[in-house]
Amino acid sequence: MKVLVVNAGSSSLKYQLFDTSDNSVIAKGNCERIGIDGRITHKMSGRDDYKADLPMYNHTEAVKVLIATLTSPEVGCIADMSEIEAVGHRIVHGGAYFSQSMLVNDDVVAKLRLCNDFAPLHTGPHLMGIDGCTEAMPGTPQVLVFDTAFHQTMPDYAWMYPISYDMYEKYGIRRYGAHGTSHRYVAGEMCRILGRTEGTKIITCHLGNGSSISAVKDGRVIDTSMGFTPLDGVEMGTRCGSIDPAIVPFIMEREGFTPQRMSEYMNKECGLAGVSGLSSDCRDLDDAVKAGNERAKLAVDILTYQIKKYIGSYTAAMNGLDALVFTAGIGENRDEIRAAACADMDFFGIKLDAEINAKTRLQSDIVKISAADSKVPVYVIPTNEELVIANDTAAIVGAMKK
Ligand code: ADP
Repeated sequence: MKVLVVNAGSSSLKYQLFDTSDNSVIAKGNCERIGIDGRITHKMSGRDDYKADLPMYNHTEAVKVLIATLTSPEVGCIADMSEIEAVGHRIVHGGAYFSQSMLVNDDVVAKLRLCNDFAPLHTGPHLMGIDGCTEAMPGTPQVLVFDTAFHQTMPDYAWMYPISYDMYEKYGIRRYGAHGTSHRYVAGEMCRILGRTEGTKIITCHLGNGSSISAVKDGRVIDTSMGFTPLDGVEMGTRCGSIDPAIVPFIMEREGFTPQRMSEYMNKECGLAGVSGLSSDCRDLDDAVKAGNERAKLAVDILTYQIKKYIGSYTAAMNGLDALVFTAGIGENRDEIRAAACADMDFFGIKLDAEINAKTRLQSDIVKISAADSKVPVYVIPTNEELVIANDTAAIVGAMKK
């Protein structure tokens, strides 16, 4: 089945066209500057990238440009849009409404609207992306795949915060988690390698600009580091992660910050960038550490220490560990961060093969980076959220057609 995967952001719409019969990517690209002027970059293997400035004043126009590009005799890859049998959308937040991927209908869209409180920056663009596809491809079924869905299996004592219960009831304040589609993909791959799902205890570390760590038991999430919002958990590129909550009113008072300014501060001015005063990107920090920059070292040390603590606490929560997985930009490419997070973990049975770990960067294959005598196998598994979205969409639409 040819499935178009759409990831709608505030001013962009990324896409990938999959053939799910062999999971190949036929084409992919990005519509940018939506609402400003409009630019499309379209990529197909074996061809030069196609770039064009075309007006896209909203997401509907972006979808029209995207369809015109996919069907163009010069740069396209399909004869006409009826070849696209379904559309799968990446949705950042599904609240507690969605524990699995859903076919778009009025009820599903109404519930998605209610998620706007939890993800105000993303929900609007998602709705516009759905509307854009409905208008440009009426009759083509659409499926929503939620970043929060995989975490809905957490027990209540893991998702409930120790705040008064009425706040949870009034506002839905609880742990929802994020990056669920990525955790689901790499945990699934890990279960495939282990040869079983039931009885497995896996920790998945999705470490990128935003980072989250999950404990996955029997193929189901029992805890995850991101919380009510993607600000919780470990130190990130520009996000502070978990801090003493008393710091929030303290800084607001001393600095005269409004709630909005404080939120901006914690999301954009903290983390690796804030501590180092240099950069949110580990590549820059690595160079600075090598040049003897103490604050760059401190920023990285905080992150690796926190990863180590999550591995320890989730191993305790599951009473064991069968495999540890690293994924995303840092997890797949930063060997020194993996090495530091796994150093001195022999008590937990974790030991890396220093040589294999050091050369595991920029690869598209799964690599086992643990030493032969490590009790717990450690893997780098490149994530593929778009593939999960394409496969969920094909499965739901395929079942509907039967
Ligand atoms: P996002 O969360 O925005 O998707 P990524 O998963 O791309 O971000 O992760 C960004 C982080 O991963 C940066 O700190 C960067 O240093 C690191 N990273 C990404 N790609 C590479 C690479 N090819 N080599 C080294 N580090 C990388």
